[in-house]
Amino acid sequence: MIQKKLLISVTILYSICATQMAMSQTKPKQSKDFYQTKAPSIKNNHSDTTELFEEEDNDEGAEDTTPQKDYNPRKEMSLVSEDTSSEQEGELSIVEVAEEIKIDSTWITYAEYFAVWDSKSVNPYKIDGSKFSDTLYLTLYDTVNNFRYAMPLGNCKSTSLFGQRHSRWHYGIDLDLETGDAVFASFDGMVRICQYDGRGYGNYVLIRHYNGFETLYGHLSRQDVKVGQLVHAGEQIGLGGNTGRSTGSHLHFEIRYEGNAINPEHVYDFSSNKLRSKMFKLSPEHFEYLKSARKVYYHRIKSGETLSSIARKYRVSVNTLYKLNRMSSRSVIRAGRKIRIR
Ligand SMILES: [Zn+2]
Repeated sequence: MIQKKLLISVTILYSICATQMAMSQTKPKQSKDFYQTKAPSIKNNHSDTTELFEEEDNDEGAEDTTPQKDYNPRKEMSLVSEDTSSEQEGELSIVEVAEEIKIDSTWITYAEYFAVWDSKSVNPYKIDGSKFSDTLYLTLYDTVNNFRYAMPLGNCKSTSLFGQRHSRWHYGIDLDLETGDAVFASFDGMVRICQYDGRGYGNYVLIRHYNGFETLYGHLSRQDVKVGQLVHAGEQIGLGGNTGRSTGSHLHFEIRYEGNAINPEHVYDFSSNKLRSKMFKLSPEHFEYLKSARKVYYHRIKSGETLSSIARKYRVSVNTLYKLNRMSSRSVIRAGRKIRIR
């Protein structure tokens, strides 16, 4: 029913930062039956101390996922997209990409997705994943066509999972490491972002892959790649660390499709260091969590509580509480009232 026809041509017309492809690559480990493993069922954890209302939230503090009403992914866009952002020097990149995919008899030019090339924003696409209604089959591993994969770390041990974490949604998985451990590209692709975000991801790298995913590697102590650089699965892209909003060395690893994060555990089996399936079936249920991730949360104030004790409880800053509730340091809180904590 779903047919796929890919025609990918990536031409880097001009890239100040493009550097030579690294010659040495780590060969991904393969296992004959790795694709027969079943993905875990999709479950979301909900906080039990809060009441739910609708709205939006950001993730690690690094991105704005608010869908823009005026963005129309179907509108005609130029195949050539130019990033002229000037804050960071040497990031001017022009990329020409053409790709076609047939989904239920509807031809969608992937260039509409790939034409967006932004070396600053994790999610420049502004596509609301909760409205995703297709089923897509993404080829992640195919020896005939030389689609390779690698684990992001030599040995993956998760310390914090994708899902609700305190008052926020955790859009990736945290993998244990020692500062200085090598971090590898998951699949072949091109580096879209190589930046520092002091309040969130720290030093991070985001790679756009030919299979349709983008992967993000956060809290690095060193970045070994540049924007526009082509990388292979298994190629070292940096060293793990503890930069940005992080308490202890770890890799924050995200997998996104059209800017919307999915649970990396549906793609990888981290406990056995392998891919779950060579073909990934992307369906609306992978984005179901967005409906709860964007809820606004309130806390009912108990007697004896202060703004700082509430802030500590939900791991948000007092300033965040001021902003969310239009309060100042002179505001008085009363038991029984509700206060917005997210
Ligand atoms: Zn994390």
